[in-house]
Amino acid sequence: MSPRILLLGGVGDALAIARRLGPPHVYSLAGLGKVPSDLACQVRVGGFGGAAGLAQFIASENIDLLLDITHPYAAQISANAARVAQLAGIPCWALRRPGWNPQPGDDWREVADWPELHAALAPFRRPFFTLGREPLEHLDAIPAEQFWTLRLLDAHPGNQRARIIANRGPFDLQGERELFAAANFDVLVSKNSGGAATEAKLQVARERGLPVLLLARPELPAVERAFADPESLWQALQPLLRETP
Ligand code: NAP
Repeated sequence: MSPRILLLGGVGDALAIARRLGPPHVYSLAGLGKVPSDLACQVRVGGFGGAAGLAQFIASENIDLLLDITHPYAAQISANAARVAQLAGIPCWALRRPGWNPQPGDDWREVADWPELHAALAPFRRPFFTLGREPLEHLDAIPAEQFWTLRLLDAHPGNQRARIIANRGPFDLQGERELFAAANFDVLVSKNSGGAATEAKLQVARERGLPVLLLARPELPAVERAFADPESLWQALQPLLRETP
């Protein structure tokens, strides 16, 4: 019998797979971004209530295979997925998207956490943050000599020292070039997310000779099968999806 899949998503690669899944399967979102209404599979939204809640969902919904296609920095849900799948005796497959690598001449500096990032930012005046929501917590502590630009999914008022751009990727090279030129950033602050959707900013930083401060990737758990790209994961699913429903 064909296994019932629970797909943990929240990134474009997951949505692309969810679009190809049929009605028995479940696509799960944390609820921070857009919720698609045109999928053939079932869609559920919101946290499960920790590992215990996820375990309960897997048992009550008779899930046979867990797919972790969450963002590489979404370490909590990935840890829960791997642990709960193991306890439930079902396989967990994951997309483990490789990070970006610097090219010769790039000045990329890895920082472990916010305190290290704060220290590394000291020489700069006009940083561009593409880290998600975390910098919002530090808007009141922006040094007098700095002006921050943050790009996030949701709108936020910002303040005298910070401008918030609400926008969602993918971002193309031309648009990124125009943004960097208009805002005159002197450093880019980013996660090392990998993938093509948000890579153009690194090319523009390179063209403009700007340093890049990269937040280190979190440790992710070992899983039954890990894939570097969504297409290989999709191909590996095919024999299972062909089994009788
Ligand atoms: P996280 O720290 O690993 O997860 C926090 C909590 O959010 C989890 O414990 C879980 O709540 C809930 N959650 C996360 N993904 C879920 C899913 N697919 N379905 C149901 N509940 C989910 O993750 P995060 O960094 O806050 O990211 C949240 C979501 O945004 C993820 O789906 C991720 O793929 C997406 N996202 C994250 C980033 C990023 O930079 N972190 C970027 C783009 C998209 P319970 O413990 O209650 O189950």
